Amino acid sequence: MRRPRISGTVKIMNQTVKDEILMREMLGDDGPLGADSAPDDATVDAALRAVRPKLARTLGRARRPLARVGVIDSPVGRLLVAESARGLLAVQFLDVAEAPDSLAAMRESFDVVEDPETAARIGREIGRYLKGDLQALNRPVDLSLVRSDFQRRALMRLRRAVPPGAVITYQALAAAVGAPSGQRAIGNTMATNPVPLYVPCHRVIRSDGTIGNYGGGEPRKIKLLRAEGFSVARDHRLPAGSVMGHLVTHIFCRPQCHAAMRADPAKSVIFANSRRAQSAGLRACKLCRPV
Ligand SMILES: [Zn+2]
Repeated sequence: MRRPRISGTVKIMNQTVKDEILMREMLGDDGPLGADSAPDDATVDAALRAVRPKLARTLGRARRPLARVGVIDSPVGRLLVAESARGLLAVQFLDVAEAPDSLAAMRESFDVVEDPETAARIGREIGRYLKGDLQALNRPVDLSLVRSDFQRRALMRLRRAVPPGAVITYQALAAAVGAPSGQRAIGNTMATNPVPLYVPCHRVIRSDGTIGNYGGGEPRKIKLLRAEGFSVARDHRLPAGSVMGHLVTHIFCRPQCHAAMRADPAKSVIFANSRRAQSAGLRACKLCRPV
């Protein structure tokens, strides 16, 4: 495995070190004081009064949460990855010019420190996942970089309801979060998802069965879906053996089944094949007999 490298644009200095340098400067601390040069109380009080506003600002900054970031080379390209104490905060495709700038967004509310070990650990997870360990990306995510509650709800719903080996349409995901006409809002939410792969926006497709856009580019979307068992066709359509899964009745159907067509699309996901639906705990429909 190649050693993770930090890109030239990522300039990070440990905030704690910066704070310590600042405090030393403010207090004129250039080493232990000799006993005979100890300042009297009044001098110390005056010095503290002088630095108090600056000190307050420094301590305010020090209370911000930490984001540990690094750059990794993964099977899906070079990635900037970040983690907070609450979970995975960002995964950014560094070779996509229009990808959201996670680092700038993070700096608004986090102290950003470089942590190659954390990054390498995340890189190993992604590697395992692409080799077929579909549970490898289950760590908690921190959606602090997501702008709105609607977007946060849509991303969490997607992560919970659509397992590897399944996809959902933009329309169904919109309906699932209570906005049946919100396909465009869902499209924007997926395009600005700060944690692709971990919140699987690659599993959201068009209602006509074509796979649609992806923030990391269409070839990557195909690669990820194939790693999950979706043998996406050359015309970017879903495989012929796909079945419709109903998340409330836990029954899956052939797409042409009358029962499937009557089902609430907000509660339906599409599985690559019957086996995937069964391993997600669904039973075959007795009308259309998909197995
Ligand atoms: Zn059926």
